[in-house]
Order: sequence, then structure tokens, then C-alpha cells
Amino acid sequence: MRRSRSTRGCGRWCWGGALRVSSYLNLAAQTHRRRWRHLCGLKAPLTHHTLAYVTEHLNVADRRHVLASVAKTLKANKALEGCKLNGLLFLSLDANEHFHSRHRCCPDCCQRHVEVTDAQGHKQRVIEYYHRYVVAQINGPKLNVVLDLEPIRPGEGEGAAALRLLGRIRRVYGARFVDAVTVDAWYAKGPFLRRVERLGWAWVVVLKREDMDVFGEAHRLSQDHPPGRAFADPERPRTVQWWEVKELDFSPQYGRKVRVVRPQEQWGRRIRHEPQTRRWVWASSA
Ligand SMILES: [Zn+2]
Repeated sequence: MRRSRSTRGCGRWCWGGALRVSSYLNLAAQTHRRRWRHLCGLKAPLTHHTLAYVTEHLNVADRRHVLASVAKTLKANKALEGCKLNGLLFLSLDANEHFHSRHRCCPDCCQRHVEVTDAQGHKQRVIEYYHRYVVAQINGPKLNVVLDLEPIRPGEGEGAAALRLLGRIRRVYGARFVDAVTVDAWYAKGPFLRRVERLGWAWVVVLKREDMDVFGEAHRLSQDHPPGRAFADPERPRTVQWWEVKELDFSPQYGRKVRVVRPQEQWGRRIRHEPQTRRWVWASSA
């Protein structure tokens, strides 16, 4: 199998992910809209060749500077107020894969083995190259703002890239730009959460690992009690109940007490069907 080791192929895909563009053809089609061109100060539509050329020559530091200046302007103009929950602005971290190939790679590609079936029906293991990024963004009902993103380097874990990203966000945006960090279950690890606190932020994490003591303890302490809160959410619409358990041990590595909230949502009551139910378990630092 011939493989090209160039940054060119991967690089284009990565910018597509960072800019949230599915293809340059698609973006080029949008530039035919007059309002789009007016916003960008363009006299004529762009071609996908122009977009590809520009992103080939984009400088990562410049791109980060633009992201930061946009987000800071939004905050100064109070545009992020609608993204706050209970008066707190949350930064959410998530890892996404933007590119994978079995034929093309660059020096920064991660690798994994995958099993494929060839034309004769024989199974074989091949190397697949891919790029993953941790993305930090502020989410709201009307606005999602990407603050920054960081590649997961070959051989390193998601947590290492996430901490590098958080450290840079603190330097570029300041500790008070957001109030707390929310992460998915993958980050529910004591050392990671301690580092987030040292950076000056509270945290909220989804718990999915039933083998964690804090998960079982929160269930045990709340299961025979009435919910602490119950209300109807007219916007979605669904009914919400939640149970809260304070002062729980999270893990020996974390070494501090946490608060656990166990919400349960129900919606939709169709004939001969039970309403749908969704349950979560969240832990937070405060
Ligand atoms: Zn690559």
C-alpha cells in the first residue's frame, strides 16, 4: 500500500474541523449569499480553490488569536449571558476525530490497528491513521463559541491534550473568562480534576462508570428518598426530578468531597407506550 507522508492532506481536513466546515465546496457555495459577503467584506464569491489555498497558509497562532478576539468581544458585548447556567459560564471540553485514512498520513498522525475484509473475503489487520482534537467551547441555546482546540499527539491520552488546552486558555483568556469546566465521563479521574481546580475553575463531570465508588454511593444514598426537586420543563417539554447527595468521596487520588446530582427526565406518553426516561449522574466540585 502506498502511503503519502505529507502534512498537506491531513492539514486541510484539520482546518475543516476547526472551522466547522464540511467541505470547501460547501463553504464556497455559501459565499454566493450577499449577506455572507457583506459580513466578510467580499465583493465576489470565493472558489473552493481560494479557500484551500488560504487554509494551507493559515498560521495556527494567528487563527487562535482570531478565535480569542471574537470570544472576548462577544463576552464584552454580553452576548454570552444567554449561555450561563445559574449565573455561571461553563467551558465544555470534548474530543472529536476529524480525519482518518488508511492511505495517507503525516508526522503528527496517531495510529491504530483495524481489521478489514479484502475482496476475497480475507480478514487482515491494517494501520489506520487519524487525528483527534480536544475542543473547548462555550455552548448556549443560540450560540456555540469555540475558544480553542488542541491536537491529541501520537501516543498521548486525551487528558494530557485537554490539560495543555486548559493551560493555554487560562493564559490567553484569563482565569475569570469562564467560571467552570464541564467534561464527559472520560475525564472523571481524580488527577485531571485536581489540575482543573488548580487552574482556578470549578468542574462538573458526567459519571458513567458504575465501578466508581462515588457512583454506587450516590445511588445507595438517594434511592429510597423522594426527589429533592421536581418540576416540569415547558421548553423541551419533559418532567424533571433530581436527587442530590453532598459530601461524597470521589476517589483516593482526588482526595476531596464532591456533590453528586442524579437527575431523571421523562417525556412523551404515546398510546400503549411507556414514557421515555433518561437518567444521568453528575458530580461537581462544589
Ligand atoms: Zn496526519
